[in-house]
Amino acid sequence: MKKIAVYPGSFDPITNGHIDIAERASRVFDKLIVAVAKNPRKKPLFSIEERLQMIREALSHNKKITVESFDGLLVDFLKEKGVDVVIRGLRAVSDFDYEFQMDSLNRKLNPNIETFFMMTSESYFYISSQIVKEIASFGGSVKGLVPENVMKMLENKFKSTMEKK
Ligand code: ADP
Repeated sequence: MKKIAVYPGSFDPITNGHIDIAERASRVFDKLIVAVAKNPRKKPLFSIEERLQMIREALSHNKKITVESFDGLLVDFLKEKGVDVVIRGLRAVSDFDYEFQMDSLNRKLNPNIETFFMMTSESYFYISSQIVKEIASFGGSVKGLVPENVMKMLENKFKSTMEKK
């Protein structure tokens, strides 16, 4: 039987930290679904279409990875896909509380779900979507923090918001 895992997140936008986790997880599982949460409440910078496109471009070389969006509860998406393994990345102790809460919640909703945590590679532990957006919003370089295609998207996004001001 093929072992499939889901790597969920907002990916607003995808960073090299996310890519590292996705690539490493894809070596362990037969297939990895990167599941992008629509999360309108989090007021994402990039639309769901933009986020999906950026991830697809950045990971297109990896045939084991597919990218999809989901709305609502992760457990419902997992059920729809017939998957019971979730991958999450851990950067620092500060990630732990939230991840522990989410895992407990998901298992309360569906006891068959197992979350596997992967430690960030040391070169990526300080990268978050939030930091990347902050740097880009002030015109700083995000080279090495995100893939090239994401760098361009960030530049365009902040160029157009600056022009509007
Ligand atoms: P969410 O909004 O669900 O927290 P994110 O898109 O911020 O989603 O992150 C998705 C997952 O990737 C989370 O498990 C997060 O801890 C992990 N992650 C984010 N940045 C990194 C990184 N630099 N290294 C490893 N894991 C990361």
